[in-house]
Amino acid sequence: MSSESSAAILRMRMVNRDLADAGITDERILNAFMKIPREDFVPPGTDLSTAYGNHPLPIGFGQTVSQPYIVAFMLQMLECESGNRILEIGTGSGYQTAILASMGMKVVTIELLPDLAARAKKALRAIVPEADISFIVADGYNGWTPAAPYDCIIVSAAPAIMPEGLEDQLNPAEGRMVLPVGEWHQKLISITRSGDNIVMRESLPVRFVPLVKPRKE
Ligand code: SAH
Repeated sequence: MSSESSAAILRMRMVNRDLADAGITDERILNAFMKIPREDFVPPGTDLSTAYGNHPLPIGFGQTVSQPYIVAFMLQMLECESGNRILEIGTGSGYQTAILASMGMKVVTIELLPDLAARAKKALRAIVPEADISFIVADGYNGWTPAAPYDCIIVSAAPAIMPEGLEDQLNPAEGRMVLPVGEWHQKLISITRSGDNIVMRESLPVRFVPLVKPRKE
């Protein structure tokens, strides 16, 4: 069997068993996971069954690509739609960026590490060439104000405490954000903004790499 067709089988199995059977019901999310080849975002030489396992994977520089279920779960919490503007903090491998873009979102993605950003950009240009993605290489600890406001913000690394100013970058009309918060014991937090009113909800315990807070010069 060609590696392309085995990848398609593993991808379908991942979507059915690790996402749909585990409570991800949004067809738009499931369809996006069916489309994006996860093997193209993990280090070369990773075998296919490892690439499609429901666990995080190392991508170099001490970073990981998140577990498929957690990415899908965060997207289901976020309720972000085609045409929405989304800020993704922590481009990493670019896998989640590809999922967001293939759902039709306009993505601003920010990454601290230039080497990871360059690799992700190359993979994304090849896999979703038509996508609306702006790549920023900078510190995104406090978001990215030049392109705000955003309909949605998704954070792929965990700050120890909630960073200041992120919710101000949300669209005042129902802007939404999902992020992990905590050091060792982390929780997913969702935030919804309506004007000046902010509603915060806690969800699953999770384990993300830390959101780095670079020292100010
Ligand atoms: N969504 C990514 C997950 C990558 S892991 C994926 O699908 O692969 C988290 C990423 O956040 C890492 O690449 C790390 O370098 C980046 N990161 C950590 N702190 C950051 C910061 N302050 N600003 C921008 N990116 C940061």
